[in-house]
Amino acid sequence: MLTRRRFLSSSVAAASTAAFARLPELSAAQYELLIKGGRVMDPSRKFDQTADVAIAGGKIAAVQPNISASAAAEVVDAAGKLVVPGLIDIHTHAGREKEDGALCLADGVTSLVDAGSAGADGIDAVVAVAKAAPNRMRVFINIGKKGIIPEGDLMDLANVDVAAARAAIERHRDTVVGIKARLSKNVAGNNDLEALKRAQSIARPLGIPIMIHMGQTVSAIPDLLAVLKPGDIVTHMYAPPPNGIFDDAGKLLPAVADARKRGIWFDFGNGRIDHFNWAIVEHAMQERVYPDTVSTDWGQAARTDQVFNFANVLSKFLMVGMPLDRVIACATVNAAKTLPAFKGLGTLVVGAPADVAIMELRQGSFEFEDNYKGKRTGRLKLVTAGAIFGGKRA
Ligand SMILES: [Zn+2]
Repeated sequence: MLTRRRFLSSSVAAASTAAFARLPELSAAQYELLIKGGRVMDPSRKFDQTADVAIAGGKIAAVQPNISASAAAEVVDAAGKLVVPGLIDIHTHAGREKEDGALCLADGVTSLVDAGSAGADGIDAVVAVAKAAPNRMRVFINIGKKGIIPEGDLMDLANVDVAAARAAIERHRDTVVGIKARLSKNVAGNNDLEALKRAQSIARPLGIPIMIHMGQTVSAIPDLLAVLKPGDIVTHMYAPPPNGIFDDAGKLLPAVADARKRGIWFDFGNGRIDHFNWAIVEHAMQERVYPDTVSTDWGQAARTDQVFNFANVLSKFLMVGMPLDRVIACATVNAAKTLPAFKGLGTLVVGAPADVAIMELRQGSFEFEDNYKGKRTGRLKLVTAGAIFGGKRA
């Protein structure tokens, strides 16, 4: 025999089942995922406050305080954490191994570029890795057709094969979205300018960017910058001399300032060998010469050395005094702007693809390293706590 209370509750259950049967759209949650209670930081619209992020149909559906948990099929508690647009790493070598994309996604990287691991000869394998990645991986083809090689990608101009590179790009137009030219003396010798001009002869008509790897080049940086067009990218911007961005007196070269004015992007590119030291980064901060984008130059060997992961690289800029929102911008909205293929990403505006990184901002004592075993201790460290790609938890 039913007690009155049990009778009532079973009646209510029956009634609501009937109501849902008549109106099936009411039975589905309004949102697939709700990220609750985090500090939402979206530099694309200078938004920084405690709020909830609701996701529906793989897109950002709402960003506001106090969205009801009952409106969502799944709730992620982000209290005490940062909620930022999915990180965009424009300089990695994550197209080398099939698991690389997943490793980067776990670090909060929802969109990334393999920047020049392969040239025309090896591009199909890298494109296959990119296409199978669980995040959005695109590829810059190395203008040297053998890719990164110990004897130097561009040392032999026979490897700077315009027809082969163009054919490779045309074969993979959806995935190969730019050209990489590594120009240091030990990579290109005296061929830096000629290789860059050949790369531009392909890139300009296709309207795709070139990323140059600067530092320790034979040619002076103004001569290299003169070949670049708006939208091209200079990585390793804090490379030590010869041919860094500062003159011997520590002043920014006018050609660098002019290049930035005409829309050429300057990227950090952590890497592991000869790309930056603390003295140059600290000097750059004093001179207010900030990066447009921060990237890792990540590869599997960097997982245990200097780079580790994107959050660790971003933390280095907190240590040298860049404000948090500026650092996050370098890894989100700014990075999206550098690449037509990433248009509309790097933001949490309603309607954007639901790519999100959840991060912790830890306080303590943390050691960071430059490319010359120089150590610095910082008081803040970003650590990725979770990632969402296209509305799905990684
Ligand atoms: Zn690289």
